[in-house]
Amino acid sequence: MTEPLVVLKGVNKHFGELHVLQDINLSIDKGEVVVVIGPSGSGKSTLCRTINRLETFETGSITIDGAPLPEEGKELAKLRADVGMVFQSFNLFAHKTILDNVTLGPIKARKIPKAQAEKRAMELLERVGVAHQAQKFPAQLSGGQQQRVAIARSLAMDPKVMLFDEPTSALDPEMITEVLDVMVSLAKEGMTMVVVTHEMGFARKAANRVVFMADGQIVEENDPEGFFTAPKSDRAKDFLGKIL
Ligand code: ADP
Ligand code: MG
Repeated sequence: MTEPLVVLKGVNKHFGELHVLQDINLSIDKGEVVVVIGPSGSGKSTLCRTINRLETFETGSITIDGAPLPEEGKELAKLRADVGMVFQSFNLFAHKTILDNVTLGPIKARKIPKAQAEKRAMELLERVGVAHQAQKFPAQLSGGQQQRVAIARSLAMDPKVMLFDEPTSALDPEMITEVLDVMVSLAKEGMTMVVVTHEMGFARKAANRVVFMADGQIVEENDPEGFFTAPKSDRAKDFLGKIL
């Protein structure tokens, strides 16, 4: 029996009066792809940020590979490397080249020699289809290309799990597919992924499970086909009625 890679047990978090995460229980197996879906403001981003310890929580526990989330220091830096995160806004370093964006983390946090980090970065940039842009700066790339660089940058840290928070919602429609294709191939290669997205095509192609959140709670979970064709709760039915 292998333990799930990510385990949240009874996690609660408030922002002042707002109970933003309410008794969240969620286990994610190694290699599993979980799509998190739900109305704006339901706590999806907060959930991702909490797993990455960008946010604290009050009660409950979160473990990654059996170890509780560290509080601070070196261990926290290691967690950030183990738990990759890709945001809606690509968050690349504007004054660094594409190559430097990808090598910086491995060199600083993983202490990888520069030449080795660059070799690996070029392989990753190749994989996401932007190797020919390596010497350019982020602003010289399209949004879709920048997001693919952001994915390569996360992968360069050899993460155990990747969190994607609406990775395509800031992109022009014609660039969405090129980013989703990279994510689908990652999923097929066995990466453990938590993906906040409303892209049903991605969910159907790549997700093992859909988790529906509303008002800080996990309201229902199902396989993608079941969730999209036969949602159980009124909240999910209502939500799907609006996005489909
Ligand atoms: P989602 O990603 O599902 O749209 P969020 O996790 O971003 O939802 O936000 C959930 C709720 O928490 C929203 O009501 C939002 O306004 C609130 N919230 C998010 N971040 C903060 C913060 N740093 N301080 C106070 N309230 C916040
Ligand atoms: Mg969000």
